[in-house]
Amino acid sequence: MCKTPVDKFEGEITVEPMRAFPLVRDLVTDVSQNWEVARAIPPFTTNEKTDHVWSMRQADVDRSRDFRKCIECFLCQDVCHVVREHKADYIGPRWVVKAASLDMHPLDSVNRSDYLKSDAGIGYCNITKCCQEICPEHIIITDDAIIPEKERVVDAHYDPILWLYRKLRRR
Ligand code: SF4
Ligand code: SF4
Repeated sequence: MCKTPVDKFEGEITVEPMRAFPLVRDLVTDVSQNWEVARAIPPFTTNEKTDHVWSMRQADVDRSRDFRKCIECFLCQDVCHVVREHKADYIGPRWVVKAASLDMHPLDSVNRSDYLKSDAGIGYCNITKCCQEICPEHIIITDDAIIPEKERVVDAHYDPILWLYRKLRRR
């Protein structure tokens, strides 16, 4: 489906299937594992009443607008060394972008920090930014999605003041 004119490049061009997914045939890979991850992400849920018009500030719209440009090409998943080596443990950059787009929605009321820390394995990402560099939609994957989501997990699980507060409440 690539429509980039070949004459835009000089020298030899190598075309090969993505390596992060099982090969079906020729250039075709089986990317169905992505749909399982998509289904596992806690969906948008709001405590707002649904019988009136929701209003959002422009700043909130802008914050996650780029995330919705994702065309699910999965190049970011393919280039991520963690996805290649620890498939079952880390959901990968495309899906952190998805989780971030939900978390940054001002009307969303779900806390995804437990999911991100455990099932999503966000701690495996070591911020090499390879995914960000390869995204054809120029989504700032690492800086705008992964780092804020990591910060969310750290705030929820490792903030010493929150930890002390929870410990005292349990007494
Ligand atoms: S920044 Fe994280 S998600 Fe992106 S390629 Fe590197 S390890 Fe993978
Ligand atoms: S590389 Fe960009 S457009 Fe492609 S799946 Fe990843 S985030 Fe989406």
